[in-house]
Amino acid sequence: MSKVVVVGSYVVDLMSRTPHLPKPGETVLGGPFKMGPGGKGGNQATAAARCGSEVTFVTKLGEDVFGREALKHFRTENVNTEFIKVDPGQATGAALIAVDDKSENSIVVALGACGTITEAEVLEAEEKVKDADIVLLQLETSIEAVVTTVKLAWKHQVPVILNPAPYQEFPREILRGVDFITPNETEAFELSGVEVVDEGAALAAAKKIHEMGVGTVIITLGSKGAFLYTGGEKGELVPGFKVEAVDTTGAGDAFNGGFAHALSTGSSVKEAMTFSHAVAALSVTKIGTAPAMPYKHEVENFLA
Ligand code: ATP
Repeated sequence: MSKVVVVGSYVVDLMSRTPHLPKPGETVLGGPFKMGPGGKGGNQATAAARCGSEVTFVTKLGEDVFGREALKHFRTENVNTEFIKVDPGQATGAALIAVDDKSENSIVVALGACGTITEAEVLEAEEKVKDADIVLLQLETSIEAVVTTVKLAWKHQVPVILNPAPYQEFPREILRGVDFITPNETEAFELSGVEVVDEGAALAAAKKIHEMGVGTVIITLGSKGAFLYTGGEKGELVPGFKVEAVDTTGAGDAFNGGFAHALSTGSSVKEAMTFSHAVAALSVTKIGTAPAMPYKHEVENFLA
């Protein structure tokens, strides 16, 4: 079985529909209420595990009802929970999500425990990182955890995928230890200063990011697919799949989880991108984030 280590966030999604988003000082009656596992790290770990990888997830939870539910979720998903810390002094992360009738949303993410993962906590998982086929991380946690993970993977020559989401500043020199980077258009702009308005701009942005030391740059472009650049004068648009989308939240997480799985099984970058487009396309046909991630057999049937 291919082995993937994911280091990142877990937050519980607390979601309600409302007729309109509340203005400052306003209370609106909403409903129905939905609760579910979320956070970019947790979603990507779930996606990779459902695709068939042996996944170890490094994160931190509070000692509360949300933390206990999270552990239950990851056990059900066959994710190794050995390096999920529980900190009695902190709350489990939570995303407070309001969605109005026009599907506009307003989200407050309180990272709680998973925003304070330390260097020492990442280092505890050194043997798993050493043994992994690929390491996957995002920016939805402490930068200390991100930097430590990249250095650890570098030490053991394990390839790293960085999904730079949500964007926050980090020491750019770590990009030399990142093999694959998967920004969306907004994150590509944050990294490169180039607005990704078309394919030409995607190439310009990707070149700048590549110059920072990342071998393979993949800019995801929503339903259009993703732009692949590995150096030289040209890049390539790898198209996505057309589906009836009902909820695109977590599409990027599905893509990254699928990509990590496919690369860890030895697929080429382009094969892995096609596979992850399928994972992401299937995820947008369902409501929710982690619960919307497809299983291996669904992806295989879709691609057959
Ligand atoms: P999110 O923040 O919603 O998780 P993102 O902005 O990180 O998403 P996108 O670039 O929107 O990421 O999408 C990632 C991938 O998901 C795309 O490359 C594509 O494979 C797939 N995807 C997204 N939207 C659609 C859609 N409407 N139909 C099919 N595939 C989609």
